[in-house]
Amino acid sequence: MPGAAPSDAVILFDGSSLAAWRGREGAAPAQWVVRDGYMEAAPGVGAIQTAAPLGDIQLHIEWATPTPPKGRGQGRGNSGVILMGRYEVQVLDSYDNATYADGQAGALYGQYPPLVNAARRPGEWQVYDIVFRGPRWNATGTLTRPARVTVFHNGVLVQDHASLWGGTAWLRPAPYEPHAARAPLVLQDHSNPVRYRNIWVRALPDEPAMAPRAGEATDAHAVSAAQMARYVGTYRAEGSDSCRVIRMPDGTLGLQLFDRPDTMPIVSTPDGTFTFRYTGGRVQFTPGTTSAALRLDVSIAEVERSYLKVP
Ligand code: MG
Repeated sequence: MPGAAPSDAVILFDGSSLAAWRGREGAAPAQWVVRDGYMEAAPGVGAIQTAAPLGDIQLHIEWATPTPPKGRGQGRGNSGVILMGRYEVQVLDSYDNATYADGQAGALYGQYPPLVNAARRPGEWQVYDIVFRGPRWNATGTLTRPARVTVFHNGVLVQDHASLWGGTAWLRPAPYEPHAARAPLVLQDHSNPVRYRNIWVRALPDEPAMAPRAGEATDAHAVSAAQMARYVGTYRAEGSDSCRVIRMPDGTLGLQLFDRPDTMPIVSTPDGTFTFRYTGGRVQFTPGTTSAALRLDVSIAEVERSYLKVP
């Protein structure tokens, strides 16, 4: 079992209070039972959801199914961790309990079976560590990126960056419909007294944008061929090293830094500067009135240096 929540986590349930939770419609208090450091689904009460809407998250949640086990298949220890109220990571007693593959514990319900059955015995505490990225739409409502889910079940990888086809549902295709970037996390009431404890989330920042691929530089951003030609040449820093800007075979620019022979491709960005295609950093040309006045500022790997073009 992992230790305490990391310092930047938001605690959703510490074993004592459902203050961070509401009824399914979001207004009424959550009515699940709290005792002995866990919460338990109160069958018939319905699902509960977080008071706060959540976006891209790392989620830690521990759960246990009833012991002795009752029922079979989907009727045994069924609940669910439903991301954004739409995308269910199935919770089920999958210990010696056959059911359909994408309905067992660790499944992205109805879409992806877990890579392996990592279930513990009923009554034992189990852990999901989930990395979730919500879907994205553009301004006209076209899906630009599906929701993606990674799940560790008891420390074992069971969902590897899986891309959902849409909402999770039983025998019903549920294509994506645009929704808010943040929505409450839901715990399912499937009429079985499943328990949860130690629930926390960390909000994830947006993933860093990949630099444009080869060929995109001149297409995506306005750097004229004349400008590019003008940038090509040798540059020298005051009393220090020199660098060279060269034309790559595909027409884009490359930079040879610190008197090294390696060429680092650079690509233009919307703000008129350049970045390195394969690493972080910034390259800026400041055109003067003559070639000799062309200044090159490079920021990479803890080095910031200004060069002047050698006429
Ligand atoms: Mg379920």
